[in-house]
Amino acid sequence: MLADRPRALDARWRERDLAVLWHPCTQMREHPDVLPLVPIERGEGAWLHGYDGRRYLDGVSSWWTNLHGHAEPRIAEAIARQARSLEQVILAGFSHAPAVELAERLLAIAPRQPGRAPLSRVFYADNGSAGVEVALKMAFHWFRNRGEEQRTRFIALENGYHGETLGALAVGDIPLYRRVYAPLLAEALFAPSPDAYMALPGESDEQCALRAADALADLFDQHPGEICALILEPRLQCAGGMRMHHPAYLRRARELCDANGVFLIADEIATGFGRTGTMFACEQAGIAPDLMCLSKGLTGGFLPLAAVLASETIYEGFLDDSRERAFLHSHSYTGNPLACAAALASLGIFGSDGVLERNRATAARMAPLAAQVGAGSPHVADVRQAGMVMAFELARDGQRDSPFDPSLRIGLRAYRAALERGVLLRPLGDILYWMPPYCIDEGQLQLLAETTAAAIAEATACA
Ligand code: PMP
Repeated sequence: MLADRPRALDARWRERDLAVLWHPCTQMREHPDVLPLVPIERGEGAWLHGYDGRRYLDGVSSWWTNLHGHAEPRIAEAIARQARSLEQVILAGFSHAPAVELAERLLAIAPRQPGRAPLSRVFYADNGSAGVEVALKMAFHWFRNRGEEQRTRFIALENGYHGETLGALAVGDIPLYRRVYAPLLAEALFAPSPDAYMALPGESDEQCALRAADALADLFDQHPGEICALILEPRLQCAGGMRMHHPAYLRRARELCDANGVFLIADEIATGFGRTGTMFACEQAGIAPDLMCLSKGLTGGFLPLAAVLASETIYEGFLDDSRERAFLHSHSYTGNPLACAAALASLGIFGSDGVLERNRATAARMAPLAAQVGAGSPHVADVRQAGMVMAFELARDGQRDSPFDPSLRIGLRAYRAALERGVLLRPLGDILYWMPPYCIDEGQLQLLAETTAAAIAEATACA
């Protein structure tokens, strides 16, 4: 009974899992009836292979981490090679080649802006949220070292997301993640999002962005000398529903930060490494930040690692005889050699495989497929794209002002419908999106599009 074997394995792993694991971002009560649990045995390219004998197209790059495909042999080999020589070493007082080489490579490709000194220092952490904590603490601490102790506040954007640790949550604005913990969070100032989906009738994306920038200017004016940094996700607010904005906003935000003597923190944890069409999203606005947070795709999606790139001005603000003025932040696995080796291999693939050019062709192919999906359903209110990211906004009447009743859980229905058809889509509320591994091919793109159309039809049939 060979055919039964995968199903038996699948059931066994599901049972063992549900006996011991507590899954992230999950109401565990919904497993396994409302929310299926899919044990995965292995990955290959854009596919995830389940113990159920079925394969699933990874339409979301496994939480936006994977770049070149699952189990990419060159990255796997680089990790194995590194593991045979040095798996981990304390990074305080010690160093290793992969950490140095990766820092050099990241600084060489970081966004540049004419007239601004390039980012010149790399501080490692081990996940995205920790990277955000590092950037926030650096900005705050820099002003303190200068005796500007009244600069204690951050400006963040409405609908932004920067992670789940308490510091990162404090500058995030997604109620689902934030609301419960609000009493624990430092009070940030929130500026209106430049989100083009929220444009007023007749307003262009650029006008919408500039209107939001005017509000940001007002916020700076209202809090003179209190702010240490503005933090934002350039071009694309991912967890906020893959909402996109015009680069004009970033240019104004950069100018306002300079005019107010405040740092600009670019959270490129999700947008970095080619996701939005350029290596980093900041490039599309021709700006460079003072601090840039990287993680997720940094290792090609193989291992947790974060890097915070900082300007020399920030770095020098910590040089002193006093230990207290130093940046003492530390994580045990900071700059782990295996993760750095994976990141170096991933960056190598960008060069050897011409990834950014290939992505341009893939992104161009995604556009008509997505347009067809949008045209095929009366419930798609918006189809939008930023490079390798495509989003479909579902609404009852296909109009922006007619959201579905949240209790219908349209997104969850779409998730299940797609999964049954062998595609992993993971909607954000009622927003479906594609963020596939860059190796996705024509046939897989077709499957993604057909399945998205079918999932939307099935999910909205209840409405
Ligand atoms: N910033 C952004 C923009 C993110 O999208 C995420 C993760 N979704 C984070 C920070 C947090 O990263 P991590 O999940 O690795 O903590």
